[in-house]
Amino acid sequence: MDLISIVVPCYNEDESMPLFYKAVTEELENLNVDFEIIFVDDGSKDKTLETAKNLHEKDKRVRYISFSRNFGKEAGMLAGLKAAKGDYTAVMDADMQDPPSLLPEMYDAVKNGGFDCAATRRTTRKGEPVIRSFFARMFYKIINKISDADIVDGARDFRLMSRKMVDAVLSLSEYNRFSKGIFGWVGFKTKWIEYVNVERVAGETKWSFWKLFKYSMEGIMAFSTTPLYISSVMGFIVCFVAFVLACFYGVKALIFGDPAAGFPTIVCIMLFLGGVQLIGIGVVGMYLSKTYLETKKRPIYIIRETENDI
Ligand code: UDP
Ligand code: MG
Repeated sequence: MDLISIVVPCYNEDESMPLFYKAVTEELENLNVDFEIIFVDDGSKDKTLETAKNLHEKDKRVRYISFSRNFGKEAGMLAGLKAAKGDYTAVMDADMQDPPSLLPEMYDAVKNGGFDCAATRRTTRKGEPVIRSFFARMFYKIINKISDADIVDGARDFRLMSRKMVDAVLSLSEYNRFSKGIFGWVGFKTKWIEYVNVERVAGETKWSFWKLFKYSMEGIMAFSTTPLYISSVMGFIVCFVAFVLACFYGVKALIFGDPAAGFPTIVCIMLFLGGVQLIGIGVVGMYLSKTYLETKKRPIYIIRETENDI
């Protein structure tokens, strides 16, 4: 029998976890497969760890990993994927926004349909603030233009992968992890399953607008170096404009003998150049800071305890 691993990053999800456990076990027991559910407690402040422990007591198919502090969902997914022993591995949110009812279809696609991965995307962003949807759409448009990883709009992290694909994902050992990009970058044949957005059962979202903005910047920097080129191209353009202006004023002064009356022009040009330079330095700095963190080779997460400790 095949073993399916379900990786569940959890941050303050003690209310949703029992519901999640119930729904997923029901779904998988009908499938005639072995399975394990790996709850990754990402330094939660509520009873997430206790809940995971209780579930493990009752059902040894439930495993858990607990971090020493909050390391973020990306770290949680990585730890879960590393621990997963399954022939097939799925990543799911604990809040039931990823419908367990899709699991049979996903499993079938990967096992019998010739796909390496079955991924999901929501067709609507209902229940989300309008501004957030707008910026999310912009982000997907931009990142797909400037990077070679195929990143699908509305794609969730909810996906079921073959062992080969999981190993490929794990072989990317970068510190700045942007899973949506990593999944696209490793390639493989992916079946896309669409569904209508579901709201979370309990608790609240961990993403503020600012956090999402930072996350999208990380995505762009992890999968594209285009901003570095843009800043040099902008430098060239500005230099060219400055050269043309210099010629223009030079000729004007020679022909009309006009004394330079251009105080406002100078101020404008100086401000503009200063701004462009700062942007350029900022972009370089962002990449440098990422490189700095990569070269330190710090661990991506630290485990405090797992089910093997008891
Ligand atoms: N999550 C996590 N660590 C974090 C933030 C979130 O493990 O620092 C988990 C969270 O428990 C949930 C999943 O990531 O299972 C998705 O989070 P959330 O539902 O808040 O995101 P949304 O669905 O609103 O995009
Ligand atoms: Mg959610």
